[in-house]
Amino acid sequence: MMEEQSFDSLQLSQNLPLSQDSFRELWESVVAAPMFTTPTATEVNEPWRADGQMDMQLINEQVLTEGFDENLFELHPDVLPKDGVTPPSSTVPVTTDYPGEYAFQLRFQKSGTAKSVTSTFSELLNKLYCQLAKTSPIEVLVNKEPPQGAILRATAVYKKTEHVADVVRRCPHHQNEDAAEHRSHLIRVEGSQRAQYFEDVHTKRQSVTVPYEPPQLGSEMTTILLSFMCNSSCMGGMNRRPILTILTLETPEGLVLGRRCFEVRVCACPGRDRKTEEENSSKMQNGTKQTKKRKSAPAPVPDTTSVKKSKSQSSAEEEDKDVHVLHIRGSERYEMLKKINDGLELLDRESKKSKVSVKHEVPLPSSGKRLLQRGERSDSD
Ligand SMILES: [Zn+2]
Repeated sequence: MMEEQSFDSLQLSQNLPLSQDSFRELWESVVAAPMFTTPTATEVNEPWRADGQMDMQLINEQVLTEGFDENLFELHPDVLPKDGVTPPSSTVPVTTDYPGEYAFQLRFQKSGTAKSVTSTFSELLNKLYCQLAKTSPIEVLVNKEPPQGAILRATAVYKKTEHVADVVRRCPHHQNEDAAEHRSHLIRVEGSQRAQYFEDVHTKRQSVTVPYEPPQLGSEMTTILLSFMCNSSCMGGMNRRPILTILTLETPEGLVLGRRCFEVRVCACPGRDRKTEEENSSKMQNGTKQTKKRKSAPAPVPDTTSVKKSKSQSSAEEEDKDVHVLHIRGSERYEMLKKINDGLELLDRESKKSKVSVKHEVPLPSSGKRLLQRGERSDSD
């Protein structure tokens, strides 16, 4: 049985077309392609020597003497995309700021971080924090009057690359309890009868527009009122995925004249969340500044790795005994996280054990085994 099998496989391998003739045919068919037919490369068309070896050296020399076009990979200036000229229904909306010729700008009211605040903007993070369905006034500034019939458009888009293809919509729960025709739209314009709600036929992205109104006499800017109709945490909606709001100034035909983007978090405590996130961000920035310093001036800086090591060691010995409570939705998730925590606890206990063993310089036997004494033979020997 075994012999039969191996004989079969041997025959099979012998039948494979491995002879040089067939490879030569293949090679010549490749060489015949226009790839190698440069005017000076007459010899290259016959790269097989009498001894059957390819004349690779010849080919290499040819490439070297003809030289490499250094401009090959440089884009012609006309090919480069120009900022601001975006097709109206691009699949992924552009999120870069573009003041344009009208110096389009946004300004947010300074609301601070008090507990009672319903909408507040962080200049530091370029991020609006607001409560569900509460109005956020946004001031729009331009340096000259846009063309007649210009509009302002607000579109929401997911911030992270992995979510950017998804369309931002309200969660099913909030949609169901709303009778408005535009109930699926996250962003609403308040206080204007001229607000219009759009859904792109191709991308399904939703947006709301309002005609641009020149500032009233004695004022330098126009104010629009936006409200966000779901929490960032809404299940089946944003689902904790951060979003950006894109505000564009457009001609009636949809040509973008200016664009501004900012992040939005819709939450129960805008003031508190803004404060927390700003503090976290400044902590992180201090951290990166230090590492940057270290990188740019490597010579006189002392070796910080040893300091770090001893620090982490001492903190491990001190042991963080604080107990934190985590609220988890769903028993399946709870069990999963509990397993992780159990595992970490076990690891802690194990590492304590091994620390003890290091101190005594005698390896403790793992449970169920006894130490071998000198001269004793183990069963497996
Ligand atoms: Zn919702």
